Amino acid sequence: MSKLLNSLKEDLIKKYNVNGPYYTSYPILSEWSEQFADNDYKNGLTALCSGKQELPLFLYIHFPFCAKQCYYCICNSTITYNHSTTRNFLTHLSREIDMFYDFFKKRSFIPKVKMVHIGGGTPNLMNEEEFEFLLKQIRKLVNLKDLNEFAMEIDPRTVNKQKLKYYSDKGVNRISFGIQDFDTYVQKAINRTQSFEMVDQLLSPEIRKHFKSINFDILYGLPLQSRETFRKTIENVKKLSPDRITLLKYAHVPERIKHQRLIKKEDIPNYIDSTLMFVESIDSLVSAGYEYIGIDHFAKSSDSLARANKNKTLWRNFLGVSPGGMHNTIGIGVTSTSSVNDYYAQNVYSVEEYYQSIKKNVFPIFRGFKLSTDDLIRREIIHSIICNYCLDFADIERKYKIKFKEYFRKEMNLLKYLEEDNMIKVYKASFKVTSLGRIFIRHICKVFDKFTRNKKCKVFGP
Ligand code: SF4
Repeated sequence: MSKLLNSLKEDLIKKYNVNGPYYTSYPILSEWSEQFADNDYKNGLTALCSGKQELPLFLYIHFPFCAKQCYYCICNSTITYNHSTTRNFLTHLSREIDMFYDFFKKRSFIPKVKMVHIGGGTPNLMNEEEFEFLLKQIRKLVNLKDLNEFAMEIDPRTVNKQKLKYYSDKGVNRISFGIQDFDTYVQKAINRTQSFEMVDQLLSPEIRKHFKSINFDILYGLPLQSRETFRKTIENVKKLSPDRITLLKYAHVPERIKHQRLIKKEDIPNYIDSTLMFVESIDSLVSAGYEYIGIDHFAKSSDSLARANKNKTLWRNFLGVSPGGMHNTIGIGVTSTSSVNDYYAQNVYSVEEYYQSIKKNVFPIFRGFKLSTDDLIRREIIHSIICNYCLDFADIERKYKIKFKEYFRKEMNLLKYLEEDNMIKVYKASFKVTSLGRIFIRHICKVFDKFTRNKKCKVFGP
């Protein structure tokens, strides 16, 4: 048994079994205002245009259609095989891209997009004609030759080798496979059947040569998973040797997501088993040579994510973590989130509302947030905890001209509780997250979250 697993006592798991945000943004989405609208977003974009032109940008595009409903899914997607529906969506999405193009052109701003990610939904549901149409539009904002990363999410059930080669020919250099679990009973319980052999056959040595990096999305806490079945899944993942692995926890919210009601509550592993699945997987992947990165990512040392982890240039974003100091993100398509300068914005969820806004030539904003200086300081601290696993008080003092211990008097007191539980080690002018603290890192971040921290939490004392 590993040292980490050994240090995980049941009492501690119980104590830290409290909901906490994943901090893909700070403040988190639920704190953003629905009063925030098109004009506020334009203020953010104007600030982006008048800032440093050479800053790298991340472009995210959301394609919200899938062929079949996975019961665990929390993404915004509609099940369809109808290409007139997907074409109609792409026509509106192309108009949204034109709105950005016109906005930037008027301000002589040339966006330096260094990373593109097409997510969903199932983007590989687009036929070639639709994909070419989307690429033509993307090229208005992006010089594809300048990209460090052009990533696309792939459903292995609806792709073949020929299509993977096609994406590579079009410039896609990173693919992300939705895998979740290889156990057949678990796959049936989540309505997503894809065998190990099928994925193995798709990822032949010849196909692998076409891509810089291949990611697998894996979920723990799914119905019918046990520590034993999940160990086997992780062994199978290691055999397939992806460059990156994203290991996320299943979120069961049937009161909000109707199709999750098809999952039996009694089939879901309890939180102690779920936590142990996570920790055992960390041990297993790290022993196999993967680096454990951020909250839930793993990468081989040859991957850009591992290099960024080493050089301390990781940045927390809506997709997890990204390399290359990509602090500004523009999200296009329904539900997409943007982070530009001191502003956050999220597009509407409903396709119909999205179409109405686009037709009026209005950015389809559902909610957003303008960060104050205090929010920016706290965001920087939370990102440092998640991406660097430490915090140097002097860095924050220098950048924001504050006296750290005075400014964060209350927070310094709360850190003591985490130090008592061996989550962090506090020094004179810094603190470091311990390997135990990495497992519960969201609670360490929560100390600096002025929005959600005040909600009663047993982690911070009696
Ligand atoms: S393929 Fe992905 S987005 Fe589509 S239903 Fe399944 S989990 Fe959701």
